Amino acid sequence: MEKYDVLIVGGSTTGCWFADRMAQTGAKVLVIEKQLPDDVSREYDIFHMGEEDMKRFGLEIPDEGHPVREFRFENSNMISPYGTYRKKGAYSPVIGLHKHDYIMLMAEKAQKSGAEFIYGASFTDFVYENGKIVGAKYKTADGEETVYAKIVADCSGIPSVARTKLPDTSAVCNFKLTPRDIFYVVLYYIEYADKNINPRDLDGFFMQYKSWSAPAGEGYDAILGIGGSYSYEYSEEVFNTHLLKNVKYPEYTVKKVEKGMTPYHRSVYSFVDDGFIAMGDAACLTKPTCGEGCTSSLVQAEIAVDVISTLLKEKLPLSKENMWSINKRYMVAQGKDFDFMRPLLMGVVTLNYDEAEYMFENEIIFSDALFSGMDGDDLNLKPADVAKWLAGIAKGVAKKKIRASAVGNVVKGLKQALEIGTLYDNYPDTPHGFDEWKKKADAKWTEIGSLADTCDPEIMEKLGY
Ligand SMILES: Cc1cc2nc3c(=O)[nH]c(=O)nc-3n(C[C@H](O)[C@H](O)[C@H](O)COP(=O)(O)OP(=O)(O)OC[C@H]3O[C@@H](n4cnc5c(N)ncnc54)[C@H](O)[C@@H]3O)c2cc1C
Repeated sequence: MEKYDVLIVGGSTTGCWFADRMAQTGAKVLVIEKQLPDDVSREYDIFHMGEEDMKRFGLEIPDEGHPVREFRFENSNMISPYGTYRKKGAYSPVIGLHKHDYIMLMAEKAQKSGAEFIYGASFTDFVYENGKIVGAKYKTADGEETVYAKIVADCSGIPSVARTKLPDTSAVCNFKLTPRDIFYVVLYYIEYADKNINPRDLDGFFMQYKSWSAPAGEGYDAILGIGGSYSYEYSEEVFNTHLLKNVKYPEYTVKKVEKGMTPYHRSVYSFVDDGFIAMGDAACLTKPTCGEGCTSSLVQAEIAVDVISTLLKEKLPLSKENMWSINKRYMVAQGKDFDFMRPLLMGVVTLNYDEAEYMFENEIIFSDALFSGMDGDDLNLKPADVAKWLAGIAKGVAKKKIRASAVGNVVKGLKQALEIGTLYDNYPDTPHGFDEWKKKADAKWTEIGSLADTCDPEIMEKLGY
């Protein structure tokens, strides 16, 4: 029976990139992808990646005019709830690409590097020997197959088909993502009635509604997008009853609608166990600010390539102990900053629109200090920034611009964010001590709750949730 070094479940952005890099190190790699080649990642068309990130991760940047490339733009703004204030993040230029076509280019590159792909192959379960994962079973149109590998990498996205099959005793959390842990994204491809409008002047992100306007490529003026917990219906209600009421977009026609899901959940605490690693959306590595995950996933994947290829070269087992440094290094590189942001954002989105507008105006939380750090791996917030925010909030309350109860939520979010930061700074260097750390983390996240808890109760009632 043929044995692979790495079996990758899922051949989308994370799976293809990991396959390519591992194959380049000389590893024998197999990718099983549930869909047939024509159907991979068809749920939405245009996606973006920062040009700097693409360079950093060695992702091919197609030349202008290449059919896979749609556009390049710069300067993504953060916009206040009534559209008055815009904060410019330190965003590098962004490349807009056709997702299905780009993934097929990534798969082709991985195959040139030596990775094998089987399409129409759906993971069904692990294969164990002496209680250890030694491979997986998968189903094709022709029946069930078994494949042996030193490690199974779950890159299957939201269904997390392999991770969720792990036993409760695994270091890797085996939770299933529920509608509370998912962002339901609706994209409206639009055309403005007035042809004198420059759609790029309107681009930007509204954190309060989790909505944005962005380029859409040939044939459209813009994509108006919105994400929300629970369902697409919830997201569309927020768009129609909140955003469009407060922000006056010029008259437009919707030419096309796309829908898709992205995880909105803290990352799993440990990615690794004996013979297993969770990656990409299957490990909840999406950006807490916008739900994007294509390049943020590669921060962990890059560390994983380094650690796993070294172990393979040294002929050492791909055990939890030997791969633990992937967890620790990821926490330092990105994990702490991402999970710090979650409680803070939850506090912030409970502000009413007038309060958020005031804070935008006065550089309180909605500030260059915060937004300018969001594009990199390191948030780089200084204690002085936090102190300035707190002073600004106190002033806002005194001027009756911010409710004391709202301050309570923001301060609570900030406090919890700082506590998460400290906890993640103390992430164990080895699996010893992980159980204790996990108990503390579980308690903290139970206290923090979920962004879904901040949903509009009126809309929830209207939709019968
Ligand atoms: C509308 C929308 C717009 C977005 N825009 C952006 C953007 O502009 N930029 C960005 O960075 N991110 C964006 N995201 C997020 C991004 O799509 C994800 O973070 C990213 O696709 C995650 O990649 P992945 O490879 O980890 O998982 P996925 O892309 O979900 O891929 C998982 C793969 O696993 C396969 N699979 C599933 N089950 C099995 C099985 N049983 N056996 C074998 N294979 C299986 C699936 O078919 C799929 O190909 C957006 C998300 C949405 C919903």
